Amino acid sequence: MATDRSYYEILGVERSASDADIKRAFRKLAQKWHPDVSTEPGTAERFKEINEAYQVLSDPQRRQIYDVAGKAGLGDTGGAGSPFGDGFPGFGDLFDAFFSGMGGASGSGRRGRRPGGADLRYDLRITFDEAVRGVEKEIEFELLDRCETCGGTGAAPGSTPSTCSTCGGRGEIRSVRQTMLGQMVSVTACTRCHGDGRVIDTPCKKCRGEGRAPRHKKLRVTIPAGIDEGHQIRLSGEGEAGPRGGPAGNLYVAVHVTPHPALRRDGTEIFHELPLSIAQAALGTRIRIPTIEGDEEIEVRAGTQPGTEIRLRGRGVPHIRRPGTRGDLHVMVRVTVPTKLSKKQRQLLEELAAESGEPVLPAGILDRMKDAIG
Ligand SMILES: [Zn+2]
Ligand SMILES: [Zn+2]
Repeated sequence: MATDRSYYEILGVERSASDADIKRAFRKLAQKWHPDVSTEPGTAERFKEINEAYQVLSDPQRRQIYDVAGKAGLGDTGGAGSPFGDGFPGFGDLFDAFFSGMGGASGSGRRGRRPGGADLRYDLRITFDEAVRGVEKEIEFELLDRCETCGGTGAAPGSTPSTCSTCGGRGEIRSVRQTMLGQMVSVTACTRCHGDGRVIDTPCKKCRGEGRAPRHKKLRVTIPAGIDEGHQIRLSGEGEAGPRGGPAGNLYVAVHVTPHPALRRDGTEIFHELPLSIAQAALGTRIRIPTIEGDEEIEVRAGTQPGTEIRLRGRGVPHIRRPGTRGDLHVMVRVTVPTKLSKKQRQLLEELAAESGEPVLPAGILDRMKDAIG
């Protein structure tokens, strides 16, 4: 066995071969040398070599290491770490690996890979404060859960599923035919056990052999501080149960946050728009503003300009992935100009204008009428 041949030589491809070239070369060689189909001496070793080369060259990261440092760079394991585990991939597995996503009939019928339960989504609405501080919520929903009567197997209590005799427990029927073009292998899901590899002779009465039944479920969900609108929390295995003991799906809790009436949030930053009168902006003031911790008095300095930002550091939203760090609270000053003036206010403003030597319009006709009446 020429083990010192490079992986490229083993697959018969150039060093510049594309992923598709490598895949194609491997498939061709695997069809010839797979121990399930070839009877030539040395088949097992040959296939092991081909498989090893493919496992490395089909993985961009490992291929790069191999190109630079050779087999030594990959460590003692060489071509190990096959996604197929120890030993050879079954021919059906190879077939599936190549044709998955192409609607092949063999996709779901592999032994040991039962169909799983569906993922579920739960929409949860929380308040602005709850999102900022974190909260624990109890949620309730209906789902197909593992049948408690049979423990999910689908077999009536006291009985056990038996190995399917049609496919010998493999869940698939494989046939090798000689054709003019060479050997043709076809793999189809077993029609008796539907790819499960087992048959239930005495189905559980409660779930009719499905292994799952509708149930009302209550669950406590911890919402971390700093969560935001549109975030999802994944609860692994809390989704729908798989049929006949198959793996459960996940539950995704989609979080919706009710906006705050006076605080706007952008990630970890919080913005508050603070309206100030001309007098307050010019003379300075102490004024209450809403914060995450409740209303709080802040000082606005004399001569504060429109658009000024008063920043309260560390008073924003906690960072969801860096506990202990928080964004800032930005107070945006908006100076408002009065549109309606009392007689006295008008008089004082006119005096202010006169003091500064600023020409202003005389009172409008409506104001003069008001003055006359008042
Ligand atoms: Zn049952
Ligand atoms: Zn079967």
